[in-house]
Amino acid sequence: MGRIRHTNSRRIGNLHGLWTFRWQIAIVAIIYTIVVFVGISVQTTRVVTETLRAQGSSTFDLIYDARTWNAGHGGVWVEKSDTVDTNQWLLKIGIDADISTTDGRDLTLRNPSAMTRELSEITKSERGVTFHLTSFDALNPYNDPDPWELEALESFENGETWAETLDREADPQVYRYMEPLYLDDSCTQCHAVQGYSAGDFRGGISINIPLEEFDRLLIQPRIVLGVLGFLTLVFGASIIQYLVKRLGRKIDEATEQLEHLAVTDVLTQIPNRRATLERLSHEHSRSIRTESPLSVISIDIDHFKSINDTLGHAAGDHVLKEIARRLTESVREYDGIGRIGGEEFLVIAPDTDSKDAHALGERIISAIRRDPFTADEGMPLIVTASAGVATLAADESEDSLLARADGALYDAKDAGRDQIVSCD
Ligand code: GH3
Ligand code: MG
Ligand code: MG
Repeated sequence: MGRIRHTNSRRIGNLHGLWTFRWQIAIVAIIYTIVVFVGISVQTTRVVTETLRAQGSSTFDLIYDARTWNAGHGGVWVEKSDTVDTNQWLLKIGIDADISTTDGRDLTLRNPSAMTRELSEITKSERGVTFHLTSFDALNPYNDPDPWELEALESFENGETWAETLDREADPQVYRYMEPLYLDDSCTQCHAVQGYSAGDFRGGISINIPLEEFDRLLIQPRIVLGVLGFLTLVFGASIIQYLVKRLGRKIDEATEQLEHLAVTDVLTQIPNRRATLERLSHEHSRSIRTESPLSVISIDIDHFKSINDTLGHAAGDHVLKEIARRLTESVREYDGIGRIGGEEFLVIAPDTDSKDAHALGERIISAIRRDPFTADEGMPLIVTASAGVATLAADESEDSLLARADGALYDAKDAGRDQIVSCD
């Protein structure tokens, strides 16, 4: 039996939509992952910066307290040695920085500025952290501000209370933190010569914390983050791929079922009226195009109503299904069959002339008549059918062809049923 051909365009349309859907999901997943990881990265940088700021601020406080202690004592006397010499800058502002004790020890004065410088040398060698006392008009050129410090000092003059920067250009890379210094009474003995008085803004201390160690600490979480990101993408993509594939299979199955339902008669599982007439239309065009013969056989069960009436509707259904089965077995591979009415069937026989179609019709009604049906719990039931054959004439429409086959069928009924009539 020839099957009704269907175009695949609808299913291809579905698949195309599915591909678009799949890409949309993939793009959303990628954007989501990127946003999550950029977010985590920004957060990590924020936490690191805050940690560095806290370290800068507490370092400043410690230096500030040490300076206050030093200034409170008017400087601290330390013993001179090969590495501890007189602070020349104190001499410049008229302070005698050297003294000898009665027991002959030579002492020299360490003011807050010199102490800050020397402390910075210690922290630099211990932890790489340095700090720098600086002001607009430093006594010692060592304390002159660098460009960033100058900018910070200017911002302090405008009321800022701290400044920071991540200097990735520097070698080694550093985090820089700075707070202003204000002159208090204990400082005036040295700085009065510069025209300062207590309470004046007079400079700041910048703290430089090398980033190397922080960066080293961050390597591991960054690697973990990267691997997690990669795994999330691969895992997410695989799940999406799996779900979309499954969805695609389900859509294909559902589409196939719908297509089958649309063209199949539910009771007999052979093509329904719509599909049969579509096939007729297709074969009609083909016959005209290839100038090959086309015949149709209209078949109607005899006295079917009485089967229903005496044995019941279910028995009638059983007979209809069995007729469809016998019909399917009787026709050739390329013939088309269909149920086009309650107990009416149509056979479409391409490349078949009137004589061969008549023989085919004979075969069909004898296949119906030959073996009794067992509709009523095993009670044998003889069922017969009548058939009308028509072969396409030149320039004839498919409607006319069908009408002629029906006319022949009525003739067969009129002639006593259980027979076949060919329309001339
Ligand atoms: P004829 O020999 O002149 O063809 O007589 P008939 O009884 O076969 O013809 P008629 O058109 O009077 O009756 C057809 C019956 O087919 C009527 C209807 O109830 C029955 N029928 C139509 N569809 C179905 C169906 O799906 N199942 C069942 N069981 N009966 C059906
Ligand atoms: Mg009928
Ligand atoms: Mg009938």
